[in-house]
Amino acid sequence: MSQDEHVDCSQALYRMSEYLDGEMTTEDAHEIARHLTECAPCLEEHEREQIIKQIIRRSCARETAPTQLRTTIMQRITTICDDGSWAEVTQVRRVSDG
Ligand SMILES: [Zn+2]
Repeated sequence: MSQDEHVDCSQALYRMSEYLDGEMTTEDAHEIARHLTECAPCLEEHEREQIIKQIIRRSCARETAPTQLRTTIMQRITTICDDGSWAEVTQVRRVSDG
């Protein structure tokens, strides 16, 4: 993230998974965290993703098809938040996750 310090909603949502997994640099994580303190809708998505991750993690311990579950959940999110931007974000993420 080198352009400037501003993180917009699409970036925050797109990188939410990295953020939750601790896969980004401290600086980037800081920018996302700051955006979340300033943006209620993104904070809600953050909380929702956190809950989803917990569910997936829990079901990973018991079941052998977490990928299928994850895909189902992500599809459900896309359906719930069909304001366009979210559908785009989840599609990109699903592809990059393989
Ligand atoms: Zn936002």
